[in-house]
This record gives sequence, structure tokens and C-alpha cells, in this order.
Amino acid sequence: MLRAQGAAPVLRLPLPADAAPEAIAAAVRAWLQAEARRLFVLRLDHFAPRMGVRWTRLALTSARARWGSASSTGAIRLHWRLMHFRPEVVDYVVVHELAHLRHMDHSPRFWAVVASEVPDHVALRRELRTEGAPHS
Ligand SMILES: [Zn+2]
Repeated sequence: MLRAQGAAPVLRLPLPADAAPEAIAAAVRAWLQAEARRLFVLRLDHFAPRMGVRWTRLALTSARARWGSASSTGAIRLHWRLMHFRPEVVDYVVVHELAHLRHMDHSPRFWAVVASEVPDHVALRRELRTEGAPHS
């Protein structure tokens, strides 16, 4: 649970007070991944009907070198570390993968679909790149 307490938000996890650092890291990662799944499903469900596509499955990945992927079956894979970015960047990646359900390439037609939902996609893509490739 994340709640504001004074200025800084506090994450409370069900761990013993003397939990090892590895146990704390694992619990934080599990919490982040659960939050990532919740957010990604919300955004996929928001954009898919607007874009006239249907996604079927969401898998969280920690693959190196890619933030997301889509298959023609409607299965979407998104990197859970996208959670560290601004919501606008997350939306760009979600829209990018959903747009692949219309066009399985990076053609001008593909980018036109992306731009219809995320007009400033060029700047957001740059932001994603300057942060570097994802790492597990
Ligand atoms: Zn792509």
C-alpha cells in the first residue's frame, strides 16, 4: 500500500522488522510488478477500443533491450520497469504495441495510428531512449 505521510509517500509491505535487504528488494519488486500489471491493463483497456483493436493477453517482461512487443494473436508484452517512467511515456509504449495489432511494421501507416492517440510520440520516444535500454 502506498500512502502519503507528510511529504514523502511510504510503501508499507508485510515483512518482519528484521527482514534481509534481499527480502525487502524482492517484496518491493513484487509490489511494483503487481502495480505495473494493474496500470497496464487499465491503459490497454482505455486505448484498445479507441484504436479499434482487441488485445488478448498481457505478460510482464524483464527482457533486455525492448520495452514491449505485440503478437498478431493480440498478446502484449510490456516491461515492468516502465513503471519508473511518467504516465505519458507508459501510454506511448501501450499505444505503440496496440498499434502493431493494426500494422505489424513501423511503416508511415503504423506511425499515423500511434500519432492519432499520442501526438507527441516523437518526444516521448526520445525520453524513453535517453533513459537507456531496459535491464532485468
Ligand atoms: Zn514497434
